[in-house]
Amino acid sequence: MAEKFDVVIVGGGLAGLSAGALLSSKGKKVALLERGMLGGRAVTLSIKGFNFNFGAHAIYARDSSVLRTFEDKLGLHIDWQDFDPDKAKYDIGNQLTSMPANIVGLFRTKVLKGFDKIAFTFEILKTMLKMETGHSHMSIAKWMENQNVNEDVKEMMLTLASSNFFTKEPEKIPSDVFFTYYRRLFATNKPVAYIGGGWQALISEFVRVMDENHAEIMTKTKVDSITWENDRIKAVHAGETTIEGDEFIFAIPPKEMVKIFKETKIDHLVSHYAAYKPSVVLVYDIGLSKKIDVPFTYVYDKKENMFITDISHYDTTCVPEGGQLLQATAYLRQDEVGNKEIVDQYKEKVEKLYDKHFPGWRDKLVVPRVSVKAVVQEIKWTMSQKPMPVSSTDYRNLFFAGDWCEGQGQLSELSFSSAYEVSKLIFEKE
Ligand SMILES: Cc1cc2nc3c(=O)[nH]c(=O)nc-3n(C[C@H](O)[C@H](O)[C@H](O)COP(=O)(O)OP(=O)(O)OC[C@H]3O[C@@H](n4cnc5c(N)ncnc54)[C@H](O)[C@@H]3O)c2cc1C
Repeated sequence: MAEKFDVVIVGGGLAGLSAGALLSSKGKKVALLERGMLGGRAVTLSIKGFNFNFGAHAIYARDSSVLRTFEDKLGLHIDWQDFDPDKAKYDIGNQLTSMPANIVGLFRTKVLKGFDKIAFTFEILKTMLKMETGHSHMSIAKWMENQNVNEDVKEMMLTLASSNFFTKEPEKIPSDVFFTYYRRLFATNKPVAYIGGGWQALISEFVRVMDENHAEIMTKTKVDSITWENDRIKAVHAGETTIEGDEFIFAIPPKEMVKIFKETKIDHLVSHYAAYKPSVVLVYDIGLSKKIDVPFTYVYDKKENMFITDISHYDTTCVPEGGQLLQATAYLRQDEVGNKEIVDQYKEKVEKLYDKHFPGWRDKLVVPRVSVKAVVQEIKWTMSQKPMPVSSTDYRNLFFAGDWCEGQGQLSELSFSSAYEVSKLIFEKE
């Protein structure tokens, strides 16, 4: 007979692991099944003494983030490394200027001139005071047009949105999503923080909690089908292995769910979300033998929509002694993804950006690492693409979590907040 669990979680990325840690810590008998290694897209790769994170593992507004709630509830040890807004710059062509990551940065920046700064601050204050909430049926571009927002202020709002939402098409963001996001970000004292030890440190912490609470973690176990009866899922199958449970959380992207839920009652629902487009970026990391000293740790090229972060400034554990790890990220438009010629042009542009801001990097290069099609968010929120609900009305014991789901914030915050929400729904069933 197959072993039976209180909760079966499919997928061992940040969403699956955080839900697994919380549920097991509160006494649930949990099984987590992962087709590969734990971590999903939040992976850390070690090459020649450099630890490359897939992504900068930046956590936005950490003081009000759901990860912070997990940290408190689970006693996670997280080595927060706060971003230094004074070292964040915008490259505006002929000079570098402060990036308005907070109100101080806003007043220092040269991107906006006198009156525009006041106009921009007013827009931000309006959102903070909840006077402006936006509308789910109106894009931010349309909202600004309706409000006759001045051209420079408009450009500033879209540039900020581009860097925070990891998108080259910020004008498509629904206005309510835009205002909710900035209300939170401009109200925080910790706009951006990194995690010492990278994603791997966080993953190890979730695994520690699950181990301490006797959760079963099965890696290299790919779920390929399910058994259901009436309005309940009974079991998941991975080859010859069958795992039965009371509640099921699918923390795998909709396009992976399509095969598993074929010919079930939610075939149409899953296919609908699987057809949506993700946010895709090109990531070009370089591991250097010796640190290049510059007065900034983050530089955003406004014209090209790409940025460089000095990861090793915040996470000293990711480099061999004296070394430096820089990460460049370029946003891709949907029609550019997979186009080799365009991707090669991006690589060249990134190299030129390194030349401009980190001269001499080519001589110090130990390892380059390029990902040409990194999915930063599985469903990009636009006017025509909305996130997936976290529960199913067709199967009462089926839940979804991941950065394709409804939740708070963007990127990994969506994985954590949807995982937290489904855990809560499961506890409420008791
Ligand atoms: C380049 C890059 C930069 C990023 N930068 C940041 C950042 O700075 N800040 C931030 O907050 N976020 C960032 N992100 C986003 C963050 O990495 C993701 O939001 C988060 O890792 C998603 O986690 P998840 O658990 O929701 O999904 P996933 O990581 O996709 O997890 C899904 C898991 O399910 C497994 N799986 C799939 N099918 C099956 C199956 N049939 N059976 C069993 N298992 C299965 C997969 O192997 C995977 O492990 C970045 C991402 C990238 C790629």
